[in-house]
Amino acid sequence: MLDFLRQFFQSDSDNEGTWRLDQCLACHKVLQEGMVFPEDQVSFCIECFHSTLCFCCGLPCGPLHRRLTDDRIICQYCYDTALLTPRQLAPVYETTLHFFRRKLKFKLKEQPRLKVVDSRFMQSELGASLHTWGVYSDMGSEETIYVITGIALDKAHATLAHELTHFWQKRHCPPEQTLELIEGFAEWVAFQLAQYKNLRRAMLAIRRNEAEPYQTGLQKMFKLEAKRGVKGAIKYAKTAKSF
Ligand SMILES: [Zn+2]
Ligand SMILES: [Zn+2]
Ligand SMILES: [Zn+2]
Repeated sequence: MLDFLRQFFQSDSDNEGTWRLDQCLACHKVLQEGMVFPEDQVSFCIECFHSTLCFCCGLPCGPLHRRLTDDRIICQYCYDTALLTPRQLAPVYETTLHFFRRKLKFKLKEQPRLKVVDSRFMQSELGASLHTWGVYSDMGSEETIYVITGIALDKAHATLAHELTHFWQKRHCPPEQTLELIEGFAEWVAFQLAQYKNLRRAMLAIRRNEAEPYQTGLQKMFKLEAKRGVKGAIKYAKTAKSF
């Protein structure tokens, strides 16, 4: 992905709007040359470009990174909106529930409880991989959405929407659906919320997730949406067993 985005930046090119493509996002140095990330609308000096990548947004951290208690490193910008506690995540969860009920017209009489855990818990207790932001679990006595601590605000919206979709699917979709449809639909719902809230970075992150079957499932959902509209796409995901 970096190769795709990587372009040589010349400081004498015109800047559009208020973007500071002539300034390094991480160290604020004015650039003679550097690396521009056109989709993200940001640039980095060569030195920062080669610094540690942020666990949350995937962009270079530069000199001012933050280390979370489980040793994950995030950039200063993600840290600014990082949600660390259940109390901080609660309003985002409320927004997500509201979007499901009011905008998507999803019936949700109950809701899973929300737990905030660190990366060590995600891996050792939930068997998740290192780059997991959230997990929906129906094991145990209560259905639960686990969200990783230190998640940036935009990422939190997308993660909660994805996991809450799994909770909804369990109640409203055929039990034998393919993983491609299950995960593709959850990604698509997360994208709908990101679009509604105008969370540009979250939209980019969802589109860029190359993991399968998420990427293929999402592309197939976009095609369905183009053909049948949002309502038609939801109806399909509610009744079909596969694409
Ligand atoms: Zn820099
Ligand atoms: Zn970041
Ligand atoms: Zn999922």
